[in-house]
Amino acid sequence: LLQIYRPLNMIGFVYRELRQALTDIEEMFKLLDRDPEIVDKPDAKPLQVTGPVIRFENVSFHYDPERPILKGVSFEVPAGETVAIVGPTGAGKSTISRLLFRFYDVTSGRITIDGQDLRDVTQESLRSAIGMVPQDTVLFNDTIGYNIEYGRPGASHEEVRAAARMAQVGPFIETLPHGYETQVGERGLKLSGGEKQRVAIARTILKAPPILILDEATSALDTKTERDIQSALDEVSRNRTSVVIAHRLSTVVNADQILVLRDGVVAERGSHAELLAQDGLYAQMWNRQREATEAEEALARTQNDP
Ligand code: ATP
Repeated sequence: LLQIYRPLNMIGFVYRELRQALTDIEEMFKLLDRDPEIVDKPDAKPLQVTGPVIRFENVSFHYDPERPILKGVSFEVPAGETVAIVGPTGAGKSTISRLLFRFYDVTSGRITIDGQDLRDVTQESLRSAIGMVPQDTVLFNDTIGYNIEYGRPGASHEEVRAAARMAQVGPFIETLPHGYETQVGERGLKLSGGEKQRVAIARTILKAPPILILDEATSALDTKTERDIQSALDEVSRNRTSVVIAHRLSTVVNADQILVLRDGVVAERGSHAELLAQDGLYAQMWNRQREATEAEEALARTQNDP
């Protein structure tokens, strides 16, 4: 029996490794959206996180010299606070998160964390200090439990469950016939965009990084999913220095500061109430989105009540 078992076991091992390699390749393709020339300086030091306070100082950036994307952007995220970035599509919001993760270097100006220029620290130390919840999470072809545990390999089942509960995805997982052992990904259960994002939030809760970048999904979500994700985000960003790239204005109401990015510059900044009082671009965006939500709710009422 052992003679059969050993090779079978080996095939299982190779299969798992191969499957892992394939999903890692997917991850790698996602990461290709970065500049291959970013390398550590010979004397790069590990980032020392104290606050952490993030500062963008007069940052300009272009992917293509013909087309500037950011033009002299400055802002500070004080320790433990949340800054939300809003603005029209293509304004450069996600570019700000890519620069903070140092997928690209700024063209001029500088970005610092606790006074250290990102170009002077090791990429490894920078990325381990930042938790990124991307717009589109690629899940590993493995169990949903593994996908959460990946945030901190070796975390106990209890810790994984606690993170899933905080991310508002725990009850959903518990309704699945195989619970945390459910296979997800390409060949497993297909999760919706909102479910995948909550798995990514659970993973980040487990990683517990001092800095957070949340790139909100653009896709439309129903009101309940949106509310669930909102409370998951509130949980993960509590007491962490956070940058939220927001596509839905409902997410930003409680941010300490909101930046409105337009044509590569910060066109307006302030709290939700301050920006509404300014009656500018933010107020316009807010009113437009509120009208759309009201229309959607009215439509849902007529459908439920024929
Ligand atoms: P959205 O709200 O639609 O997500 P955004 O404000 O996040 O938009 P970015 O993704 O930062 O916008 O993109 C800003 C501009 O930079 C866009 O015009 C985009 O086409 C361009 N851009 C983004 N990534 C690259 C790249 N890798 N190479 C060249 N141009 C790029």
